[in-house]
Amino acid sequence: MKRYDHVQMGVDYYPEHWDESMWEPDIKLMKETGVKVVRVAEFAWSRLEPTEGNYQFEWLDRALNLFHQYDLQVVMGTPTATPPRWLTTKFPDVLPVFANGETFHPGVRGHRCYNSTSLREYGSRIILRLAERYSEHPAVIGWQTDNEFGMLDCHCDACNTAFRAWVQAKYGTLDEVNAEWGTVVWSGEYSDWNELTVPLGGSPHQNPSFLLDFQRFQWDSVVAFQTAQINILRMICPEHFITHNFHSYPQRLDMYAVGADLDVAAFDYYPNTSPTKQDTTPYSGALSLDVTRGIKRQNFWIMEQLSGSPGCWMPMWRTPYPGLIRAYAWQAIARGADTVVHFRWRSAISGAEQFWHGLIDHSNVPGRRLAEFTQLCHEVNRLSDKLQGTMLKNEVAILHSHEEKAALDIQPQAEGFDYYENIKQIHRAVTKLGIGCDVIDLRQPLDGYKVVIAPNLYLLDEEIVRNLEDFALAGGTLLITNRSGVKNINNIAVMQPLPGQLSYCTGVEVLEYDPIGVETHVIVDAEGNPYECTQWCDILRPVVAQPIAWYGDDFYRGTPAVTVNSFGKGQVYYFGTHAEEKYWSVLLENLAKEKGLLRFEGLPNGVQASVRTGDQGSFLFLLNLSRESVIVPLPREYSSLLDNKIRSGELQLEPYGVEVLEI
Ligand SMILES: [Zn+2]
Repeated sequence: MKRYDHVQMGVDYYPEHWDESMWEPDIKLMKETGVKVVRVAEFAWSRLEPTEGNYQFEWLDRALNLFHQYDLQVVMGTPTATPPRWLTTKFPDVLPVFANGETFHPGVRGHRCYNSTSLREYGSRIILRLAERYSEHPAVIGWQTDNEFGMLDCHCDACNTAFRAWVQAKYGTLDEVNAEWGTVVWSGEYSDWNELTVPLGGSPHQNPSFLLDFQRFQWDSVVAFQTAQINILRMICPEHFITHNFHSYPQRLDMYAVGADLDVAAFDYYPNTSPTKQDTTPYSGALSLDVTRGIKRQNFWIMEQLSGSPGCWMPMWRTPYPGLIRAYAWQAIARGADTVVHFRWRSAISGAEQFWHGLIDHSNVPGRRLAEFTQLCHEVNRLSDKLQGTMLKNEVAILHSHEEKAALDIQPQAEGFDYYENIKQIHRAVTKLGIGCDVIDLRQPLDGYKVVIAPNLYLLDEEIVRNLEDFALAGGTLLITNRSGVKNINNIAVMQPLPGQLSYCTGVEVLEYDPIGVETHVIVDAEGNPYECTQWCDILRPVVAQPIAWYGDDFYRGTPAVTVNSFGKGQVYYFGTHAEEKYWSVLLENLAKEKGLLRFEGLPNGVQASVRTGDQGSFLFLLNLSRESVIVPLPREYSSLLDNKIRSGELQLEPYGVEVLEI
């Protein structure tokens, strides 16, 4: 297979948008800029097949030949995210149907039902022809399936039929469906398979077990849709890698199942450019990158990286501050991206994305952003060999689950309670402490971690519980938060004291709970320090666990809020409430000392540290993702990869300053 692990830069290019006379000057300038790879054709179906069966690939041949002439590699997109008008007109079943029965009309993108037989058939035909034509093309190295898979919750006839078959395959009989979903409530029992339909109407009062299984069905539909494409590509293009560009977390998508069939995961990264978001953007961005690395637990690509102000259907964001484009590309590399492809080479002069700015503005005059990108490309190319094959090795993991999120979205637990936002807060606390953190699927093996944080384990089965218990028994430190063990995996409440199946390892029992929502309450730690808490208060009875924080108000004042239990060779913490970030910071800093966790101490606000390690050495990235100049205290002397000079003592990082140090 052609390699996809080079540390390098790329751009997204749409030859079909531009007069052919512009291609060669553009590609020549890409080459001079230091670009190594280009993504093309993911939205080009109407140019590749203008009418049914009328394939027009010659223009793409000429573009690909030019890329090859200038020694640029190409990733091709399969074009199924934008079915052309002739297809949706002839086969309206391509178009998804919303819960209210309305059709998702063409003229946009993403207007495709994953279960449409017409789309599957015509999509397979064009992908087969593209694969056959370009399997041997010297410029082409890989494929991106579709574009930005996301959940539409399609309610069309094909989805209805497929959903019924999915439920039948899972449960076998209607008696089993009625029992596992608890449909007896409100006389919802099914007596004939034809009564079972997708959740039309979109009422939140529908059975939560049914709604969760409908989500699972939609996730499986995306995977099946992608598998059909991958089967063709693997057969015809065995030398090409396959990726998909995930975007905008949290997505209602089983990213782990979609990723399982890919060689490498990719992410579309648009960090917010607003100065008012400086306290949060660098950290939510770090989480997105860690989530992407966790999809396959290996390095990844960025397939679209911010190059200018995004805008169009929303008011435009601020233009990237000088250094921001470079610093955020380095952040992606620092957290495991190998290739970073910038969206896009040129700003579109027509269509809906006219103001989603690329590196070159409508003026057609190369400006400040292209100059900064050029510096970035040259730096990355200089460091590429050194960084090749290096990866992050972290001692802390946060467990993430699309299933937990889906179930908690179906039945909101308290005002302000948000599964992914809770993960964000914990991840931010870990990141600010200079501790590297993986974010992985809840069901992954936990070997090699010292600390595992598992927020809001609302749905549980024995496999999840055993995985967590085994980790703690073997000496791991496990942190579990409230709303855990509430339900079985079918979204049915468990009839035992919470945290249900986790009561044994946590050594604690929930007597009663108080969904305080956005009210602010207080907890007090053993030193008497008060911290704010919101969302939820479990009133706890420690069975064998020891309290380490107590509620400071309301009728449960003085009762335990946070506990720790010795379990096997390890420890299990239980958080009955959602404490403010400061509490997490103090607790995690103590844990870091206790467990001897690797960390970079003394990071100023807005500065992030991470380490990539491999056969060629270990490299420390220090990134100032803020508009202020900062001083970072270095614990010892390092050699900088950027200029080969020695750095020691107080390292000054300018706004959006970057440093890469050899450890
Ligand atoms: Zn559908």
